Amino acid sequence: AFENVPRAPDVPIYAVMVAYKEDTSPVKLNLGMGVYRSEEGKPHLPNVVRQAEQLLVNDLSTDKEYLPITGIVQFNKLSAKLIFGADSPAIKENRVITVQCVSGSGSLRIGADFLAKHYHQPTLYLSQPTYQNHLSVFTAAGLAMKTYRYYDPNTHGLDFQGMLEDLGAASFGSIVLLQVCGHNPTGVDPTPEQWEQIRQLMRLKGLFPFFDCAYQGFVTNLDADVLPVRLFIADGGECLVAQSYSKIMGLYGERVGTLSIVCKTSDVASSIESQLKLIIRPLYSNPPIHGASIVTAILKDREMYSQWAAELKVMTDRIASLRQQLYNALLDRGTPGDWSHITRQVGMYTLTGLNAEQVAFMTKEYHIYMSSDGRMNMAGLSSKTIPYLVDGIHAAVTL
Ligand code: PMP
Repeated sequence: AFENVPRAPDVPIYAVMVAYKEDTSPVKLNLGMGVYRSEEGKPHLPNVVRQAEQLLVNDLSTDKEYLPITGIVQFNKLSAKLIFGADSPAIKENRVITVQCVSGSGSLRIGADFLAKHYHQPTLYLSQPTYQNHLSVFTAAGLAMKTYRYYDPNTHGLDFQGMLEDLGAASFGSIVLLQVCGHNPTGVDPTPEQWEQIRQLMRLKGLFPFFDCAYQGFVTNLDADVLPVRLFIADGGECLVAQSYSKIMGLYGERVGTLSIVCKTSDVASSIESQLKLIIRPLYSNPPIHGASIVTAILKDREMYSQWAAELKVMTDRIASLRQQLYNALLDRGTPGDWSHITRQVGMYTLTGLNAEQVAFMTKEYHIYMSSDGRMNMAGLSSKTIPYLVDGIHAAVTL
């Protein structure tokens, strides 16, 4: 029955992961997939997450029966509070509906399906470039994709003028996907003043914001990083927000996230919730319990919350220090080129400026793995591996 099914190409970032696993070299280095690794290059689970998990295991009153279609009620409330702020007027006025989804990706998809079904404008703008899966998720939902300028390869920074021009030229009501902080793959975020300008322009043009938040706390701290979301909500307007707990709690494979829709009134929010149930039910019926229970245990407990924030800060500071160390090492080595963008860019990723050919060379000759667009997962590095990476980069750019 399936003889004529053509073979699809591999998903690039997973292909990098497989190639790395198959490489038998003892010096191999994986800077591909966005996961936080310890100084020893090992997967990292925050202590507070382990503790919360232990509490759950020891709690004999818990069971594994089905959750409601929209997930754990308390998890949704706490997640909304985490991103919108404890005294968000939108929460107080019951204008926000938050549903537990299958991590950031699943939340984006439920949001995309909702927009495709209930929003009058099917055009969605993505930053150029953006997270690889955005294109697939929104295409699968049937939205029409356009891009706005975002990254300037010459400055390795924000093309703010280009961004404003493209958003200014978008047709009224278009949806705009905005990454909240620690932009993937560029590591380039607008400043607070620029966010305010973006907000004004988007509200003026009736452009609909869809925020993707996968790195809250990975740039500065849990509050400062979500300033753009809070700015857009303070004006009383609407938006969609997808949240992921993959990176910020190390819960990658547990698939924990939410979709929130901020509405004009609580009546609208309640109708929207009923519609979200209709979208979720035929997809996977209801979400998984375990990961969201861990998050709930941490967010509801003042002490655990503080411990989490502190552990997150250690991770964030370590990434910043790795940026500085890599930059210094390239400078010391006299590697040609201006590498200052490594310390200017923020969050988990750096778009190095290395091209596909140079990346392929580093993989072949140095067993260093990264995305072919030159994106490097800074959190895959360590002080020990930086000298070797610098050898690889130096050789690649002096070919
Ligand atoms: N959005 C962005 C910008 C991301 O970088 C990622 C993860 N790499 C996601 C969403 C989704 O991740 P997950 O499905 O693991 O939550």
